[in-house]
Amino acid sequence: MELNILTLCYIIASVTFILGLKMLSNPLTARKGNLIAAAGMTIAIFGTIFLYEDDGHKLGNYLWIFCGLAIGTVAGTLAAKKVKMTAMPEMVSLFNGMGGACAALISAAEFYHIYKLHIDAPDTPFADLATAGHYITIVAGAIIGTISYTGSVIAWGKLNGRVKDFSFKGQHIVNMIVMVLVIVSAVVAYRSTIGASYIPFIMIGFFALIYGVLFVLPIGGADMPVVISLLNSFTGVAAACGGFLYDNKVMLTGGILVGAAGTLLTILMCKAMNRSLLNVLVGSFGGNAAAASTGATQQGAYKEISLSDTAMVMSYAHKVMIVPGYGLAVAQAQHVCHDLEKILEEKGVEVRYAIHPVAGRMPGHMNVLLAEADVSYEKLMEMEIANDEFKTTDVVLILGANDVVNPAAKNDPASPIYGMPILEVEQAKTVIVNKRSMKPGYAGIENALFFQPKTSMLFGDAKKVLQNLVAEIKNV
Ligand code: NDP
Repeated sequence: MELNILTLCYIIASVTFILGLKMLSNPLTARKGNLIAAAGMTIAIFGTIFLYEDDGHKLGNYLWIFCGLAIGTVAGTLAAKKVKMTAMPEMVSLFNGMGGACAALISAAEFYHIYKLHIDAPDTPFADLATAGHYITIVAGAIIGTISYTGSVIAWGKLNGRVKDFSFKGQHIVNMIVMVLVIVSAVVAYRSTIGASYIPFIMIGFFALIYGVLFVLPIGGADMPVVISLLNSFTGVAAACGGFLYDNKVMLTGGILVGAAGTLLTILMCKAMNRSLLNVLVGSFGGNAAAASTGATQQGAYKEISLSDTAMVMSYAHKVMIVPGYGLAVAQAQHVCHDLEKILEEKGVEVRYAIHPVAGRMPGHMNVLLAEADVSYEKLMEMEIANDEFKTTDVVLILGANDVVNPAAKNDPASPIYGMPILEVEQAKTVIVNKRSMKPGYAGIENALFFQPKTSMLFGDAKKVLQNLVAEIKNV
């Protein structure tokens, strides 16, 4: 009877995961979708704690379980409340690493379970105690989960600047050798007697830890969101292995969903930058090489525009397109940006936002940011549509965006961002760029757009500039 209720809990949880994931694909329903999936996860966790039985035995260990839950809940809630929107990828990375570590520990616990049950007969070959399928599931969970753990921690360090890019000649060969050592350890553990198997099993974890570090260290900082998404899919697969081991349907469903969503997101991000996954993993975009690449030199003179002139040009325009980027998020200028939109519309100006798929530091960053300021979703234009609209746009106002409007992506084959689709803002009559200096964006390269005759620079922090601009426009 209880088992049936538990199965029902798992089915409900699985349905909420799928529903939640579907709702996450639209900014209007994303928050609700997240809550629904979290509610499903709560049902699955408490169902397992109170209803799960193995040979008539309940889980027990309630003190340990609830202490763990309490610590996790407090740490997770504080971290989520404290984190700035721009630091979200870091937090996702760290939490993903924890997921990978959990999946690896589940595999280690299952190995230990077999070891402990049969240690009275230490000479029994391990292969006699676990089928190849069972063993592969244990080892796959341990390897993938461990790589995801150390890889995510390194990605977290790179995003917050604590870890620098590091590579050396022959790095990929060393990586391959470490991976071979992981696999050899796994084979040796399976072929050992149960009494000797734990040493090669520990070696699997040790080499997988090293592999995770070496795998992420040489990848450039700007590619970390893609790497995190890939590692996220690894964690999903590792969790699905845990689902197989314990015949736990909800863990299996959750793991598969995370694995599939992470893989799809990785592919979409690569597509948005027009780069292959291999190029992301072995290239060094956003790293030192990018900064040293072409276009890193000044391209001539740029001209500045004053606030009052900007207010004038924008007030008398028919159509204005705002291009938000990472700088808008850093300045937390989304609310005042919405104020600018409203005041321009009161003056009869048509205002739209052009959204690049990788503007900011995570997928959908700009959509979330503008939704936070109640900007109508209908005003946001995807890149392809925006590129058609620029021809009939009077003023493009770029707010803290750089790489996503860099024409080098179209016309400089030597540029590290060559091939990435961009917002073709130079088709508009006038381009005004707001940023604090002439410093480059994340890819570390100069932007020729800033030196074009129709472009004017409006220097300053996005929030302050927009506040002053709104005040000026009121007086026009
Ligand atoms: P960029 O990082 O290219 O440029 C941001 C600009 O904002 C900088 O040039 C900076 O110039 C300016 N800025 C910073 N702070 C402020 C401020 N307070 N006020 C005004 N301006 C400010 O951002 P983009 O959004 O154009 O491009 C995103 C980059 O991230 C791309 O290279 C993309 O490939 C990469 N990326 C994004 C992913 C995603 O999922 N979104 C995934 C992988 C990579 P200054 O210092 O002079 O002010």
